[in-house]
Order: sequence, then structure tokens, then C-alpha cells
Amino acid sequence: MNKNSWEQLQAQDSRYIWHPYASATDIPEVFPVVAASGVRLELADGRELLDGMSSWWCAIHGYNNPALNRAVQEQLGRMSHVMFGGLTHPPAVKLARLLTEITPAGLQRVFFSDSGSVAVEVALKMAIQYWYSVGRPDKQKLVALRNGYHGDTFGAMSVCDPVTGMHHLFGDVLPAQYFVPAPESGFNDDCPEQELAAMTELLNAHHQEIAAVIVEPVVQGAGGMRFYSPGYLVQLRALCDAFDVLLIFDEIATGFGRTGKMFALEHAGVEPDILCLGKALTGGYMTLAATLCSERICIGISEGEAGVFMHGPTFMGNPLACATAIASIELLLSQPWQRNIQRLQQALELGLAPARDLDQVADVRCLGGIGVIELREPVDLKQIQPLFVERGVWIRPFGKLVYTMPPFIMSDTDVATLTHAMVDVVASL
Ligand SMILES: *Cc1c(COP(=O)(O)O)cnc(C)c1O
Repeated sequence: MNKNSWEQLQAQDSRYIWHPYASATDIPEVFPVVAASGVRLELADGRELLDGMSSWWCAIHGYNNPALNRAVQEQLGRMSHVMFGGLTHPPAVKLARLLTEITPAGLQRVFFSDSGSVAVEVALKMAIQYWYSVGRPDKQKLVALRNGYHGDTFGAMSVCDPVTGMHHLFGDVLPAQYFVPAPESGFNDDCPEQELAAMTELLNAHHQEIAAVIVEPVVQGAGGMRFYSPGYLVQLRALCDAFDVLLIFDEIATGFGRTGKMFALEHAGVEPDILCLGKALTGGYMTLAATLCSERICIGISEGEAGVFMHGPTFMGNPLACATAIASIELLLSQPWQRNIQRLQQALELGLAPARDLDQVADVRCLGGIGVIELREPVDLKQIQPLFVERGVWIRPFGKLVYTMPPFIMSDTDVATLTHAMVDVVASL
């Protein structure tokens, strides 16, 4: 693509499209991509970018993967979609079974939906409808952690951090939930009981009206890329049991190996009542999410007043997406993936370490396939974004965070190039 058509594409984009978390008048530069393969994005002008984002944490196997391509093509030849009310199909059945096999034993039922936010909506509705069904209709409130992120729809937004989630914007439309401070102990620390003092007090005072606690286990993602002590989750599970409150884990960002375990909950050995999955579920090929729950919940709901769970997306269990998800999970399981994530963590630690010496850097941390440079001041995205592109890498910072979650297949050499560019750009600020 020549320079004119590049500019034309950008001009038309800024004329017609609204990008995520973007202004439609003060338009940031967007970079046209025409193809992607392995760990590289190909820009319309022929330049290549080494991808440090996995397309918002999804493309764990990289792009244009032969096994995933084959899964899509084979399913496409059979059927791309069919309604899920009253009908079923092999990819959905196989995927549901596979998900129950790789998640904790208590999670036995899978509800498919089309995005992470909806998977969270479904989880919240399951919790509330469960309590209604078993004769506790007053249990409708939710508890969430500060710095949490659970999605952009109303229910999901109501449990996101009230400040970064801009709750004031949506005033009375947003249901008011309970918030407690996020855990402070780091990933490698023990969690002192004191850290759950606010949670204990809250549950003690209000458990009669609380349906569930929702957290992102071990890693708080879009709310700050914070890693916390797995011990927190062990104590949280005990508290929820003591106060008859359900526990929801949102593993939309952490699921499928990202933190070094298949699911982050394995760091703590804790089972939630409800689990949300999304993002890397299809290896980043298309949108699909799942909400898993225990038998107690699905039986409670099914034997309650409504007799049915009140949710049913049009594109529920989309066969193309399910077939791709099966291929992605099987591809992951067929590799020595734990060892590979360990390698990735070492490469990230090594590459990002020089950032520790920079004045503008507050913290550098890595866990599994996640590498974070936390700055002292928020970055100016408009200024910093082109600097990464000039250096041939794709990194999309937010707030004070310059971070990477590369595809699992990225080589040590490419990780070195990527992290070098990150440190270099941060040093130039
Ligand atoms: C991305 C994300 C969501 C929302 O998923 P979408 O597919 O963007 O709707 C929810 N929870 C967590 C933890 C996420 O990282």
C-alpha cells in the first residue's frame, strides 16, 4: 500500500469509526494493519511490528496459526452458525466437556456467551438468581475489589473500580455495589489476616444482602496490572463460605496459561462457585466467552421459581468459535506450555530489568507471560504510541503502565528486542 492509500485509510477511519476509549474529535493516530503471522503484524506500508500485546491478551499462539486456521476452515465447511435454543452441535459439546476437565472439579456446567463482559453479566445474574431461587431474594448486592476490571457493560461496570471506571458518569443507572481495598501483599508474600479486615467487616455487616464477591484471582489486569498474594484467595474462600456468599473468579485475562498456571486460581488451590473465561479462549481468533458454575448453582436455579436461567444470547455457542477454542486449547495442552511460560517470564525479567534504574520508573514486575513497567506519571498515549511503532514493536500502554503480554510462541530473541524497545522508549520520556 502506498503512502496515499495509507493516508486515505486513516482519513476514512477518522471520518467513520469510533475507536475504543477514544475521542471522535481529537482523533489519535491509528496504524493500518493488513496481515499478521506468528508474532508479527504487517502494516499497510509494509513495515512489521513485533506484537507485545497479543491483541489485548488473546492471541496466545500468535497469528495465522495453521492448526487454528484448519479448525476454522473445517467448521466453516460444515456450518458457521446455528441457533442454540433447542439445538446443539458437536463443537459446543466437546468444548464444554473440555472446559470442565481443565477447570476445578466443582465447576460442572458451562454457559457460553459472546464476550468477556457478557460472561461477567451472566455470572452476576447466576449468583443473584441462585439466591432468589433458594428463597433468599434479598441477596442481590455484589462485592468487588478496588482496582478491579470486569468489563464495560452496566453490570460488569458496576463492579469495576469506581474511580477508573468513572462510576459518577452513569449516576443512578449503575447499581451501587460494595468495594473493599485491593490486597497489598505481593505475589510471593504471605497474606496477613489483616488484609481481609475490611472484607470481613463488610460481609459480617451485610451478608444478608450480598449475593457474591467477584475478583480477578492473583492478577488485577486492566485496573492496574497488580499481582497479589494467592493466600488472599484462600482466606476469601473461607470467608465467603462462613457468610453464605458466592465467590466468582473472573479469569478472562488470566486464563489459559498467562500467569504460568492454566488458571490463576491454581496458584491458590481455590475453587470458585462461578468462573468467567474469555479473551484467550479461542486463541484470539474470534469472540467467545464462557461462564462455568457448580452443580449447586445450576440445580438451585433450575429448581427455583423461574425454573430456567434467564439469559440467552443470539450467537450463543457459535460453532466456528467453539471449534477454534477446542483447537486452541488442544494446541496449548499438546506443548510443554508450563516450561515455555517459565522461559517467557525469565526473558521478560531479564529484558525489563534495566528499567529499574530509571528515575521515571516506580516498579518493574513480571509474572508468567506478563511484564510490567510502572511509571511514576501517566503516559501521554498520543506521544508515546508512535515511538514504539518507530522502533518496530506494538505496545499499547495505559495510565502509568507500559506492559507486555506477548504471544506464548515469542522467541527469546524477539522478547529481547521487544523489552529493549520498551526500556528505550521509557528512558526517552
Ligand atoms: C477484558 C476483560 C473483561 C471484558 O471482556 P470483553 O471481551 O472485553 O468484554 C472482563 N474481565 C476481565 C478480567 C478482562 O480482562
